[in-house]
Amino acid sequence: MFNLDSVRSQFPILQQQVYGKPLVYFDNAATTQKPLCVIERERDYYLNENCNIHRGVHYLSQMATEAYEHARRTVAAFINAEKAQEIVFTRGTTESLNLLATSLGQMLVNEGDTVAVTAMEHHSNMVPWQQMLKLKNGRLLVIPMDENGIIDIEAYGKILEQKPKIVSIAHISNTLGTINPVKKMVEMAHQLDIPVVIDGAQSIAHHKIDVQSLDCDFFVFSGHKMYAPMGIGGFYGKMKWLEAMPPYQFGGEMVDRVSFEQTTFNKVPFKFEAGTPNVGAALGLEAAVLFIQSLDREAVEAHERMLLDKAREGLEQISGIRFIGNAPERSGLVSFIISGIHPYDMGTIIDKMGIAVRTGHHCAEPVMTFFGIPGTVRASFAMYNTLEEVESFVKAVEKAAAMLR
Ligand code: PLP
Repeated sequence: MFNLDSVRSQFPILQQQVYGKPLVYFDNAATTQKPLCVIERERDYYLNENCNIHRGVHYLSQMATEAYEHARRTVAAFINAEKAQEIVFTRGTTESLNLLATSLGQMLVNEGDTVAVTAMEHHSNMVPWQQMLKLKNGRLLVIPMDENGIIDIEAYGKILEQKPKIVSIAHISNTLGTINPVKKMVEMAHQLDIPVVIDGAQSIAHHKIDVQSLDCDFFVFSGHKMYAPMGIGGFYGKMKWLEAMPPYQFGGEMVDRVSFEQTTFNKVPFKFEAGTPNVGAALGLEAAVLFIQSLDREAVEAHERMLLDKAREGLEQISGIRFIGNAPERSGLVSFIISGIHPYDMGTIIDKMGIAVRTGHHCAEPVMTFFGIPGTVRASFAMYNTLEEVESFVKAVEKAAAMLR
């Protein structure tokens, strides 16, 4: 069962006051807080197990190696990858997407080719592709959305007919909260043999992910957005791609045989993990996965959905409010502006009331350009948030709006 009090007790950071007010932490899309089990796992690693991995014959090195590979198996099972080797650890979503743009890009993209992304991507799922394409005189194809933040599937079909070499799409928009129909989009791309990358940064903590059922070619994620430490994340890739793709970075660990004339590379996934990885954080990520799995995930999802619905219901009453992102399929966050009030001013004032929200373009400037706005106020929820917090947030926004008008 999902017991909110017991979940909250795992996150001591939430018990603090800021400016003499109870902290209401609604910036979970930027990063989630970490439960004690995650913090303790990383601490325990440094207290008892710290060692470089895959290299030593001695006891500690073998222990640390086994723990790191165990974490890989846990993450693989969490998203239902067929094999543990299909999980590559990186620093997170951004590094995963840079790796894919470089490595997969180098393999598939030729002079003048294209890559398709949606109009609602985070910069991390756009700029790496854009920069890689520049080197090939290629360009991005942008899958359009409507005013509600819903992907135009018909237009997507037409874009696929232009034969992009790769499709890379957000599962859930970090700005609009839209849940994109990724399974259908994968199916459509596969009819034309086009591989699909899913940016799961905003979905993995909140919804059950099954990469085999999605049938995506790649699925990228960040640990710190799913209750794990910063500096760890990774991606899933189908074995056929991982085996064919060239390495992204070179150095220790990713090699097989090395001479001054030539180098051969290690097998998957080590081929993509050059240098010493963040072992402690990988173990923290495993602890986060076990923590999520220990809860009733449907109950967690229903709780987060309730928070979102109540926040929207409350905010709707405020005059001049405009929600940015009105797709019926949405998750995790509410983004809005209030006429005549700059999002930054709203964020600054409610901060003084103890409420942490994000303001600005949320690393999605083209989305702001599309809606013709400088930014939004974004409140994003996690399992440990409460209805009372939503109510204080709505009251704070009402009060700040009255002050700023
Ligand atoms: N993609 C999406 C949809 C995101 O929300 C974010 C972070 O906000 C990223 C990519 C980048 O993630 P990170 O900064 O953890 O690499």
